[in-house]
Amino acid sequence: MYDAIVVGARCAGASTALLLARRGHRVLVVDRSSFPSDVISTHFLWPHGMSYLNRWGLLDQVTAVTPTHESVDVVNDGIRLTGSVPTELLREYFRDLHGDDSGVVRSFASVRRRVLDQILVEAAAKAGAEVRTNVTVRELIIEDGRVVGVRGRAAGGETFEDRARVVVGADGRNSFVARALDLPKYDERPRCTFAYWSYFSGFDLGPGQIHRRGRLACAVVPTNFEQNMVLVWGPSDWSREFRADVPGNFQKALDFVSPELGEVVRTRGTREERIYGTLDQSGFLRQLHGPGWVLVGDAESSKDQCTAIGMTHAFRDAELASAALDRWLTGDASVEEAMTAYEGRRRSQNAAAYYDYVCTLAEMRPYRHDELQLFVALRGNQQETDRFIATHADIAPVSEFFQASNLFLLNDAAKESSADHPVFENFAETSRSYQQNLFA
Ligand SMILES: Cc1cc2nc3c(=O)[nH]c(=O)nc-3n(C[C@H](O)[C@H](O)[C@H](O)COP(=O)(O)OP(=O)(O)OC[C@H]3O[C@@H](n4cnc5c(N)ncnc54)[C@H](O)[C@@H]3O)c2cc1C
Repeated sequence: MYDAIVVGARCAGASTALLLARRGHRVLVVDRSSFPSDVISTHFLWPHGMSYLNRWGLLDQVTAVTPTHESVDVVNDGIRLTGSVPTELLREYFRDLHGDDSGVVRSFASVRRRVLDQILVEAAAKAGAEVRTNVTVRELIIEDGRVVGVRGRAAGGETFEDRARVVVGADGRNSFVARALDLPKYDERPRCTFAYWSYFSGFDLGPGQIHRRGRLACAVVPTNFEQNMVLVWGPSDWSREFRADVPGNFQKALDFVSPELGEVVRTRGTREERIYGTLDQSGFLRQLHGPGWVLVGDAESSKDQCTAIGMTHAFRDAELASAALDRWLTGDASVEEAMTAYEGRRRSQNAAAYYDYVCTLAEMRPYRHDELQLFVALRGNQQETDRFIATHADIAPVSEFFQASNLFLLNDAAKESSADHPVFENFAETSRSYQQNLFA
C-alpha cells in the first residue's frame, strides 16, 4: 500500500513524486517510457521554471550541462525588445502562489528533455520514491466510487497491481487517468499552432531569441551538446501546406520571420537531427481532483507551446499538489480542505487570464497596429519591457500589465516614437500580405 501512485514520470510526475517522497511519503511513480528519452516538446525554461529546479536543489545539475542566459530577445515585426525578469516580480510570484520566495534565480535555459527528465527521475528515486519505467497503466482500480490503485503491464508482458491512498495523473495531454475517469475537457480552444523544430550546430548567437512576423514565428535558443534549438511555428490552418515540404518550408519560414536568422541557419548551421513536429496542441482544461485522484501538468491543463510554459506549469502543479497532498496525508487537513486549497490556487483569476492569453496568441493573428505601437513604446522603457516579458511568461499577472491606465501611458509614448518604424510605413498593405499563406 503506497501513499501515492504517480502515473507519468516527467516534469509533472517525477517532480510530484520527488516532493512527496522528500516529505516522507511512500510513493510509486510509473512511466511507460524508459529514461533518458525525449518527448514531443521543445524545452525553454523561463526564470520561474529555473527557480523551481533551484528550490528543489537540482539546478546545478542542469546548468552544469546546459547554457544559461539572463536576458531574452523578443522581436515582433522587427521591433526588438531585450529584457529579463526582475527579481522582485519573481519573488512576488513565489510568495503569492507558494507562500515563500526561496531559491529565486533570474536565468533562462533550454534543456533537452532527455537531460532534464532523467535528472528529475533520478532525484525522485534518490528521495525514496520507487520508480518503475517501461510499464503502462491500463486500468484504475475503483472501489465505492473512489480510485484506490492501478493495474498495468510491463514491456516484458508481466502484469502488476498496486494500491495507494491517492493516484496522481501526471500522464500528459492524452492522460490515461483522465480517460479512465471519463473526465470531459472544457474551455477547449481548438485554434492552435503547428510547430516544427530541430537542432543545429555551427553558430553561437548568445541569449535566446523569439521572433514573430505576421502569422509566423521562430525561436533560436542555445541548448545542450553545443547545439541550438531552432523552432518555427504558425497557424494550424496553414499546416497542410507547410507539411508538403517540411525542410524547405522550415527554411522559408525562418527567412520570412527573420532574414538574419534564416541566413545564419542556412549558411553556418549543420542540422544534427531530423525535424520534429506536431499539430496536437489545442488548449483545454479538465477537472483537477476527485475521490482518490488528482491531476497535474498537461493532464489537467494543456495549452499551445507558443509561450513555452507547459514544463514550468508542470513544476508549479507539482509543488502545489504535493503540498496539498502532504497536508491531507499527515492529517493536517481533511482531503476536502486540502484539495479545495489546491483548486483555489490553480483556478485563480490570474490562471484564467493567462490561459486566455496563451490561447488567443496561439490563433496567430498578425499583431494589430496598436499592439505594435505598444511594442515600440516599450523600447524606451526597460522597466515596462521587463514587466511585459514577465507577463508573457506568467510571472506577473496579465491584468496588471494590460490594465487601462498602463496602456494609456504607453500609448502616449508610442505616438511619439512609432512614426519612423518601417512596419508602419505601409501598414494596410503589410497587413493584407500577412493573411496570405506563405506555403500555398
Ligand atoms: C511542440 C511543443 C513544444 C513545447 N515547448 C515547450 C517549451 O519550450 N517550454 C515549456 O515549458 N513547455 C513546452 N511545451 C509543453 C510541455 O512539453 C508540456 O507542458 C510538458 O511536457 C508537460 O509535462 P507533463 O509531465 O505533464 O507531461 P508529459 O511530459 O507529456 O509526460 C507524461 C508522461 O506520462 C507517461 N504516460 C502516459 N500514459 C501513461 C500510462 N498509461 N502509463 C504509464 N505512463 C504513461 C508518458 O510516457 C510520459 O512520459 C511544448 C509542447 C509542445 C507540444
